[in-house]
Formats: sequence, C-alpha cells, structure tokens
Amino acid sequence: MVENDKRAAVVAAARELERLGLNQGTSGNVSARHGDVMLITPSGAPSARLCPHDIARMALEGPDGSYVGPLPPSSEWRFHRDIYRARGDVGAIVHMHSPYATTLAILRRDIPAAHYMIAAFGGPVVRCADYAPYGTAELSALAVAGLGEGHGVLLGNHGAIVTAGDLDKALWRAGELEQLAKVYYLASLAGTPVILPEDEIMRTVERFRNYGPKEKEA
Ligand code: 13P
Ligand code: ZN
Repeated sequence: MVENDKRAAVVAAARELERLGLNQGTSGNVSARHGDVMLITPSGAPSARLCPHDIARMALEGPDGSYVGPLPPSSEWRFHRDIYRARGDVGAIVHMHSPYATTLAILRRDIPAAHYMIAAFGGPVVRCADYAPYGTAELSALAVAGLGEGHGVLLGNHGAIVTAGDLDKALWRAGELEQLAKVYYLASLAGTPVILPEDEIMRTVERFRNYGPKEKEA
C-alpha cells in the first residue's frame, strides 16, 4: 500500500471507531506501520475533521518525539512506537476508551476465557495493566508487558489497546474486545461466569490462525 492510501486508511479507521461507539470526542488513537515509520493520528483532533495530510509520520528508530506533519502526533506515540519495536508481527494499533473494556480496566480485572472468542487475542486471558498517566514512558512499558505476545491489553483506569497485522483486522479485534468485555461484565453481574479451560482456548487459537479479516501486507 502506498503511503497516501495508508494515511487515508488510518483516518477511516479513526472514524469507524467513533461510528462503532468504541471512541468518542478526542479519545483514543490509531496508527499503522509503514516500512520503518509509523503513521499516527494527531493529538486531540476529532476524527470527523481529520484528513490524510494531518496524519503524523514518525520514524520507529528516530529521536524521541520527532515527527513530520502539520499537527503533533498522538500523546500516546510512545506505546505505539514501542509496540512496533517489540512486535515485528504488528502492522496496526488501535487505542480506545470503549465503555465495557474501560469499565473492566477501572475494576482492574483481566478478561478471562468466559467466551471462546478470547482466542482471537492469542491466549486464554486479556490482561489488565496497572495505571500510569497517559502519554508516559511508564504507561508504554506497562502496555508492552501486558500485551506480551497477544493482541489485546487493558490499561488500568484508562482503556484498551488492540493490535493486528493491518487496520482492518485491528478494527475487527477492537469490536471483539469490547464484546468480550461486555458479555463478561454482564455475566459477572448475573452470576458466576464459567471459564473455559486453557487447553480448549489454545486449540481455538490454532483454528483462528485463518479466521477473521485476511491481513494485507503492512
Ligand atoms: P491523543 O488525542 O493525544 O491521541 O490522546 C487520546 C488518548 O486516548 C490518550 O490516552
Ligand atoms: Zn487513551
């Protein structure tokens, strides 16, 4: 994909997150890897007003905080950059303050295997990281550690991060994470959720290798 198309895809993804109710106002941010740079939404910009030219470009190995673009990058550029550095398989990152994932993040609860769709995140749990202030290196370190080799992490008293090979799959996972959080939360209110065994989830992870939107090259 050429850079301009990828910039347009980042804008479209940010708008789609708002349309789906996964972000609102200026909450959350989106990025995509493009070779040795990342393309990331600007800080504090409502998605409806974004155009592809507004997307900031940051070298993954460049000096901290340096960017090219008319607007400063998302305040969360550190965790976007650090996840790309740690995970060669990740081509796109979505950060959201969606209602149910954020509710569990406020309760500081990991999401267990209450539903088999947790396999879409690579294992039997989506962990909840401790709190650190937004935009800090401390938050980035917690996010990278909480994500591990998986595709989702909750950020204590903040929200969630979802990763994938490309933006389409990241959007799909973002919707699935919110749904997992919602049904786990509702089931917890109604009674005691039954948690599926880890070996069943790991078998489902294998079956999921080719499930969901097919990823395009980063
Ligand atoms: P930005 O507008 O700087 O991307 O910040 C939104 C956010 O969600 C911070 O965690
Ligand atoms: Zn946030």
